[in-house]
Amino acid sequence: MNNGELPGLYIHTPFCRSKCIYCDFYSVASRTMVPAWLEAIRAEMKLYGKDFPVFDTLFLGGGTPSVLEERELALLFESIRKHFSFGPDAEMTMEANPESLSKEKLDAVARFGVNRMSLGVQSLDDTDLQYLGRAHDGARALRALRECREAGFGNVSVDLIYGLETQTLASWKKTLDLLLEFRPEHISCYELTFSPSTPLGKRKESGRVRPIGEKMEAAFFIWTSRYLKRHGYHHYEVSNFSLGQENMCRHNRKYWRHVPYLGLGPSAHSFAAGPGAQTRARRWWNVLSLREYCRLLGEGKAPVSGFEELTSEQFDLETLDLGLRTEEGVDIGFLEHFSKDQRVLALWRKSGLVRVSEGRVRPTRKGFLVADSLALMMSK
Ligand code: SF4
Repeated sequence: MNNGELPGLYIHTPFCRSKCIYCDFYSVASRTMVPAWLEAIRAEMKLYGKDFPVFDTLFLGGGTPSVLEERELALLFESIRKHFSFGPDAEMTMEANPESLSKEKLDAVARFGVNRMSLGVQSLDDTDLQYLGRAHDGARALRALRECREAGFGNVSVDLIYGLETQTLASWKKTLDLLLEFRPEHISCYELTFSPSTPLGKRKESGRVRPIGEKMEAAFFIWTSRYLKRHGYHHYEVSNFSLGQENMCRHNRKYWRHVPYLGLGPSAHSFAAGPGAQTRARRWWNVLSLREYCRLLGEGKAPVSGFEELTSEQFDLETLDLGLRTEEGVDIGFLEHFSKDQRVLALWRKSGLVRVSEGRVRPTRKGFLVADSLALMMSK
């Protein structure tokens, strides 16, 4: 929950070199509209500068922020600094893909204040990377990791994907072993998903690709959690591992604990206030079209396409759902917000899905595996 912590700022950079076949994030495979987006995002910052003056995290995500050229990144950071301030030890993350990084770009973003690089590696196996439609190969990804270190980044996060039909546990281990030589401070391991709107989802529907099945997915998940733990990584959220508590992603932790955040750019989501404050928790999100986003801001309008106010029941259920996705869990007293608290807690404990320690209900590894359904059991 929000304990008076400063909000986080998210900026969505909706440009990619090409579209990966599994991706359902909003982005376009063209740089043509970068100047218009830069102008629009500056206008959007102006709209919110008074309501959100200070942050302690920045997450430049996408899309692929590293497809921006140095002078474009300079303009973006100039606008950010003009409209917002950051606490002295702010975490400033930038997502990047290996093929669009260079020593010069890394040096430049370090000068602009970025202190955490999040690299979209996905795999170090070229067969996997081709299957996913990625624009880099394993060698380029390893070079990008080296370049981050050479540029002085002491906080590097790596995104990986498991559960591909091209993968075996042995080839996945090889990817992890190569990566572990770099000791990235943070690793995110996501299970491959087959969103129906993506080319991969359509290939699944027509039988051209096959999911590996629930049993194998669970095997990958459990094995990965154990293996990374053995190498010193703290499994602190369903998909996230850090070298020690100090390297957990401060920005993403705000999402899981209902700390306010402002999201700018097409498709970005924002969240503000909550019970205990004067107003209900509110969430709003931007249009899913770059053209529409630029047009609305060009007319001086907010590019918001949806808005919701959470009832206290929705807020509680969401708090439970998000909390049980993290190792931190929820305060045991919080379960009293639900009528079936003792019955469901007893069932969770009996099934080995949670443990209770230091007054908190925390998911076990097995609980992480079914994290999507834990809170639902309390609500039904
Ligand atoms: S690079 Fe990232 S955002 Fe862009 S298409 Fe691939 S997965 Fe999606």
